[in-house]
Amino acid sequence: MLSYYLAVTVDVCEHNKLYEHMNEYQIKDSVNLDGEVAKYAKQDIAPIVELYECVGAKKKLIKKYQFKEYECKCNS
Ligand SMILES: [Zn+2]
Repeated sequence: MLSYYLAVTVDVCEHNKLYEHMNEYQIKDSVNLDGEVAKYAKQDIAPIVELYECVGAKKKLIKKYQFKEYECKCNS
């Protein structure tokens, strides 16, 4: 069965109670998951990236990555 990882970049602003999915990226290179996720976080300036494992039509959240350096600064 077809299986792949899906990284979903998330825009977060606690100040405005925002938690919004931005873009989805298929990751086929599972050898370097952390590196791929970090690349997309940087590209979208996403403080959170959700990582899903997709098998067939099923999608399961397996990990949430946090990137402090991309957190919004509007609250400070
Ligand atoms: Zn903000």
